Amino acid sequence: MWTLDGDNMNRKIFDVVVIGMGPVGLTLAASLARRGRSVAVVERHAGLYGMPRAGHIDHEIVRILQSLDAAAPVLADAYPTVEYVWKNRSGETLLEFDWGAKAVSGYNSDYMQYQPLLEDALFAQIKDHPLVTLYRGWEAAEFEQHVSSVRSVLYKTELQADHHVPVRTQESEVIEGAWLVGADGANSVVRRWLGIERDDLGFNEKWLDVDARKKREFKLDFDCGQICDPARPLTVLPLGKRHRRWEWAMMPGETREQLEQPETAWKLLAEQGVSRDDVEIVRQIVYTFEARIARQWRDKRVFLAGDAAHTMPPFQGQGMCSGMRDAMNLAWKIDHVMRGWSSDALLDTYQQERYAHVYDWTIISIESGKIPCTLDPVEAEARDARFRGGWRPPMPDFPRLKDGVLARDAEYAAVPLAGQLGLQARVKKDGRSALFDDLFPGHGYVVLSTAADPRGSLSESQLAWLDSLGTRFVYVGPEGDPHVDAIDIDGEYARYFAAHGVEVMIVRPDFYVFGAGTLESLPALVESLRQGLFTADAGNVAALAHVAPSPRHGAPGASGAA
Ligand SMILES: Cc1cc2nc3c(=O)[nH]c(=O)nc-3n(C[C@H](O)[C@H](O)[C@H](O)COP(=O)(O)OP(=O)(O)OC[C@H]3O[C@@H](n4cnc5c(N)ncnc54)[C@H](O)[C@@H]3O)c2cc1C
Repeated sequence: MWTLDGDNMNRKIFDVVVIGMGPVGLTLAASLARRGRSVAVVERHAGLYGMPRAGHIDHEIVRILQSLDAAAPVLADAYPTVEYVWKNRSGETLLEFDWGAKAVSGYNSDYMQYQPLLEDALFAQIKDHPLVTLYRGWEAAEFEQHVSSVRSVLYKTELQADHHVPVRTQESEVIEGAWLVGADGANSVVRRWLGIERDDLGFNEKWLDVDARKKREFKLDFDCGQICDPARPLTVLPLGKRHRRWEWAMMPGETREQLEQPETAWKLLAEQGVSRDDVEIVRQIVYTFEARIARQWRDKRVFLAGDAAHTMPPFQGQGMCSGMRDAMNLAWKIDHVMRGWSSDALLDTYQQERYAHVYDWTIISIESGKIPCTLDPVEAEARDARFRGGWRPPMPDFPRLKDGVLARDAEYAAVPLAGQLGLQARVKKDGRSALFDDLFPGHGYVVLSTAADPRGSLSESQLAWLDSLGTRFVYVGPEGDPHVDAIDIDGEYARYFAAHGVEVMIVRPDFYVFGAGTLESLPALVESLRQGLFTADAGNVAALAHVAPSPRHGAPGASGAA
C-alpha cells in the first residue's frame, strides 16, 4: 500500500479492496494477507457484527480456518454434530443426515458453532497484520473502474438514534485497489453498482429466529434438526456449547412485528420446555429465506463473493460455508495473477468453478427446505406417506468442482479425484504427530505421493516451476521406510490412494485436488496444471495434456468429499 502525491493526494492504493467484514470478507482478507497482498477492508460498522447467523460449518471450513490459524478457538466451543434429523409432527423420522462421520479434511464432517466466535478468530488474524488496513466505521459508496484499478469513495459513518445501521457523515476518503471484492452481503452495493441481476431460484419463506445463551446446562428431547409439523415448523439447533437456536416458520396471518415481540419468543420457547431460568435471548429476528444467485460474479477488476453473489435457504447450513469457499478460491487466483504466475484469464475460472458448486448447494437447500416448509396438513400427510414408501427429495450429489482448473484426460474426462477435496490425515514428522497441514504449512500446491518421492518423477524445469510456486513435495509412507518425508500414522493415505487407484495427487491451494494418477503420469499432470493455470509459457488449449492416469488398483472409490 502506498500514498501518492500531487493530484492523487490522500488516495491510498492497495492490491485488493474488500468491501464488507462479515465472515467472507474476513476470510478473504486473512488469506490474501498471508500471501503477501496488501488489503483494505471496509466495514460500515465500527466493530464486528457480533450476532450469530450461521450455525453449521463443515469439515472443509474447519480446514480453511486451520490454514488461517483460526480453527482452535472455533473448535474449542463448537459442537461436533452427530446427526441432523428431520421428524414429522408425530415424531417419525423422515430424513437423517449423517453429520457425525470423520471426513476427508481431517475433522468431523459437521459442527455447530457460534458465528461471532468464528468472526473473532478470523479478525484476530488481520487486526494487527501489517498488510491489512481496516476501515471500520466507513461505508463504501461510489465506485469507478479504471484500466488497472478500481476506486471507491468511503464515507465515515456514525451511529444515530432510530437507525439500525450506522449513518454516513460528510467525512470522506478515496481508496483504490488493483482489485475490488464486494463481500458486502445480500444487499450488496457493489452488485447494484455493477447492475448485476440475480436469478431467483424460487424460495421465499419467513422464519422467526431466536438465538439464546444457555444460563445452565439442560437436555432437550430433540437436540438438532427439523420438526416438520405443518401446524408450526420448527428448527432446533445447538450453536456451539454455550448457545442454542430455535426457528419457527411464520404462519399465515402472522406479522413480523408480532413475532419479534419478546413475549412471542418466551411463549414458543415454553412450548419446548425452555424457560427464562434456562436461557437468555441474544437475538430475536424474522428472516426471509431466499435462493438467489448473481448472474455474473466478475466485472473486469471487480468480484462478488459470499451473500453478495448468492443466498440460499439455511436448511443445509451452507450459505456462509459457500462464501468462505469463494474467498479461498479467489485469494489464490488473485495472488497468482498479481505475481505474474497466471494471466488474467485465470480469474474467469472463479465463477466457472464456484457458481456450479453454489448452484448445487442451493438446489439441495431448496429441495430439503420444502419438507419443513409444508404448511398444508393434507400435503404434509401425503409427504410423510411418500417418505414411508422410501421416497427421497430429488437432489444433486454432494457438490464438487466440475470444471475449471482441473486435470482432464485426452477425452476431456476428469481424472481421478479431480475436483474433490484432497485428504488431510495425521502424519508424523521429526517425531511430531499432527494433521498434515500443520506439519507442512504453506499456501501453495502440494504434490503428495504414497509410492515414492514425487520429485524423482519430474524434470528439472518442472521442479523449478513448481518450486517457484511454493509447492510442497511430500512422500508419505509407512513407518520404517527411511526415504519418507512423513509417516502415514493411521494408514489413511495408503487406503485413500489405493481406493482411488492412484500413487500421487496434486492438491491446489484451496485443498481441491487438481488431479491424481500414477507417478509415471505425473509429468503430464504437471504440464496440464501449467496450462490450466494460464501460465505465460503454456498454450491455453481447451483439451489439456494427456495425463492418462491408468489406475493400478481398479476403479476409483467413493468421493469421500462429504
Ligand atoms: C437464520 C440464518 C441461519 C443461517 N445458518 C447458516 C448455517 O448454518 N451455515 C452457513 O454456512 N450459513 C448460514 N447462514 C448464512 C450466513 O449467515 C451468511 O451466508 C453469511 O453470514 C454471509 O456472510 P458475508 O460475509 O457474505 O455477508 P455478511 O455477513 O452479510 O457481511 C457483509 C458485511 O458487509 C458490510 N457492508 C455492506 N455494505 C457495505 C458498504 N457499502 N460499505 C461497508 N460495509 C458494508 C455489512 O455491514 C456486513 O458486515 C444463515 C443465515 C441466516 C439468516
